[in-house]
Amino acid sequence: MKVKMILPALAEAESPFWRPIKYSLFPPLGLATLAAYLSPDDDIDLQDQHVEKLNLDDNPDLVIIQVYITNAYRAYQIADHYRSRGAYVLLGGLHVTSLPEEAAPHADSIFIGPGEDTFPQFLTDYKNRNPKKVYSSSLRTLTGIPPIRRDLIKRNRYLVPNSIVVSRGCPHHCDFCYKDAFFEGGRSFYTQVVDDALSEIDRLPGRHLYFLDDHLLGNAKFATELFEGMKGMNRVFQGAATVDSILRGNLIEKAAEAGLRSLFVGFETFSPENLRQSNKKQNLEKDYIQAVNRLHSLGIMINGSFVFGLDEDDPDVFKRTVEWGVKNAITTSTYHILTPYPGTKLFKTMEEQGRILTRNWDLYDTRNVVYQTKNLTAEQLKHGYHRAYDEFYSWRNIARASLQHESAKHKLKHFCYTGGWKKFEPVWNFLIKTHSLNHILPVLESVLSRVKPSQSHVEKLEPVHA
Ligand code: SF4
Repeated sequence: MKVKMILPALAEAESPFWRPIKYSLFPPLGLATLAAYLSPDDDIDLQDQHVEKLNLDDNPDLVIIQVYITNAYRAYQIADHYRSRGAYVLLGGLHVTSLPEEAAPHADSIFIGPGEDTFPQFLTDYKNRNPKKVYSSSLRTLTGIPPIRRDLIKRNRYLVPNSIVVSRGCPHHCDFCYKDAFFEGGRSFYTQVVDDALSEIDRLPGRHLYFLDDHLLGNAKFATELFEGMKGMNRVFQGAATVDSILRGNLIEKAAEAGLRSLFVGFETFSPENLRQSNKKQNLEKDYIQAVNRLHSLGIMINGSFVFGLDEDDPDVFKRTVEWGVKNAITTSTYHILTPYPGTKLFKTMEEQGRILTRNWDLYDTRNVVYQTKNLTAEQLKHGYHRAYDEFYSWRNIARASLQHESAKHKLKHFCYTGGWKKFEPVWNFLIKTHSLNHILPVLESVLSRVKPSQSHVEKLEPVHA
């Protein structure tokens, strides 16, 4: 059987603010995971439109398309195209799960929720010529899933070909997050068996790994065993976790020992009222600075995530947030304009309040204002968002933030990582054009090499109890 798997490009990947490197980071792991359930005899073509031109002139038997909110219209067009050529078309992913009625007319079958249980079921039904219109996931487990078909991934087109996911979901329930909508009807946080995760790591070449899990420290027992197993593997890795998990117990030390060198942290807002409104309870009354100091003391760089436009935000929020990031030596900042994704509690609340201004999903990219704001005008919010990026990544502020660290090595590492990421676009574009992004990996690995904690920095930390 001829199978085509497609990740259509996100609408923002074509905006004037498009940084090609941002869309050449991670390969489409979700599709490669599903491909593992296909037969070794199937002829599979996996295409990611972010890194290659789609070939739409072929005649596959089965087409599988992954749909996010800002590639939805493009995904539907591709689906319609292949259906008109007689292919059987499947649509799945976050947006299909949020709005199945919208997606269904463009597909022969749609998938709601994660596909690890439903896709094998579909394949059996398809072979028996009796596929269903809707497959809804309910059995949530990663036990016994087959190894990801990494052979289908064009490694040289990605900066981080060794991305990996060892869990699904997250134990928290923030109102603006897709997570609850996607995992409705079953478990919303579960992990692989530790040995399977370690085997998957073992199969990856080189030293660098990027864990794409929503919350790598979300299950302390699993994470402890994983980090224990990774000791001695000589890996360096990046991942994501919450403020409270950094402050609790000593899991973060174990992660650092196993090779954690940079962490994505959802600070989101400094306002307790904003946190309460967003149901981001895990950040309430947590000392962000203590979390930052703890990470720095372990030589872990920080990618801070911040949301603008929550109801308590005022016109000064942008300046405050940038200044806090610089003063606290946050290595990279990711700013978002609040976006009420359909299917989330936030969307429902805003809809009830009559605050949703557009249903043009292409604009739901966290760079546009799609809802009625409260203490800021839409213009202030958009302008402040762009200004925050410009200011945080000015050479002056990159230098100021780097100089906050104590050791010369830490200062240099911060400066190279942030400057290299944001200020060398022509180099990134050249590497993308020549399909040689993966050649930069040894440089990334050496930038991520360990910085020894300075004693005075460690002594500044107060003991933390669970
Ligand atoms: S902590 Fe992160 S992944 Fe978990 S629900 Fe909140 S926003 Fe989503």
